[in-house]
Amino acid sequence: MDKPEINDPYLIERVAITENTDNAHLLEVDGMCPLCGNYLLIPKGKRMNKKYQIAHIYPNSPTPNEVIELQGLERLGTNCEDFENKVALCKDCHGYYDDHKTKEEYLRLVMIKKRLLAASKAKISTSHQDIDEEIVLVINSLTNIDAITLKKMELEYKALKISSKIEQTYSILKYKIETYVCIYFNLIKETFQNLDQEKKLNFDLVASEVRSSFLKCDEEMVSKSEIFESLVKWLKSKSSGSSSEACEAVISYFVQSCEVFHEIS
Ligand SMILES: [Zn+2]
Repeated sequence: MDKPEINDPYLIERVAITENTDNAHLLEVDGMCPLCGNYLLIPKGKRMNKKYQIAHIYPNSPTPNEVIELQGLERLGTNCEDFENKVALCKDCHGYYDDHKTKEEYLRLVMIKKRLLAASKAKISTSHQDIDEEIVLVINSLTNIDAITLKKMELEYKALKISSKIEQTYSILKYKIETYVCIYFNLIKETFQNLDQEKKLNFDLVASEVRSSFLKCDEEMVSKSEIFESLVKWLKSKSSGSSSEACEAVISYFVQSCEVFHEIS
C-alpha cells in the first residue's frame, strides 16, 4: 500500500470504522447504495448479509494517477478519514469507483455526499425542535397507567400471530432505535426520573412490564419489528395526538435501557 504523501496533510493513516460510525453511514444512505440504489443489507436465513463497504471519496492512498486526476478539486472533511469523506456503497460500486476513478466520478460522489450531509442535518434539527416537547407529553400520559392496563397490553402481544417471516427490517429497526436513543436518552431518562420522584408514575412497574412483554413475544417468535410497531401503536393510543416519532423514541428508550431484544448471534 502506498504511503500517504508527506506534503499532503489531508492524507492521514487509515482509521478503523467503529460499529456506531458504520451504522451512521448506513442510516445516512437509508440502507441503499447512493450510486445504484441497491439494498445494502440482504436477508439470509435469520441474518442480514452486509452488501456494502464504507468507501473513501478521496482515496486514503491515492495512486500517482489519482493525485493528478483529482488535483485541485474540492475535498470533504478536514482529512481523508473524516466521516465527511466516507460513504456507504455497495461492493460493486465501491470496487468500480476505486478501480476507475475519474474526475467526473469523484465530483459526482462529492456532490452526492454533500446532499446526504445536508439532508441529515435538516432531519436532526427539525426532529429536535418538535419531538423534545412531545416526548415529555407522551411520558406524562404514562402516569395514568395502572396494572390492569399493563395486563391488557400483555394479552394484546400474546394475540399477535406467530410470524416466521425473515427479519428484513430488523437491522434498519436496530439503527432506528440506536439513533433515537443517542439523541433522546437523557431527556427521557430525566423525565421518567422526575415523574417517579413526584410519585406520579412507577417507572419500575412500567419498565418491568414492558420488558416481560417483549420477552414473551420473543419466545413466541414474533417478529421484532412487529413487536416494536405494536408497542409504538399502543403508546400512541395512550397519548392522543402525539406523533409516531415521539412514541418511537420512548419505546426505543425501553428497548435500550431494558435490553429487551436479544443479540442475534
Ligand atoms: Zn451500488
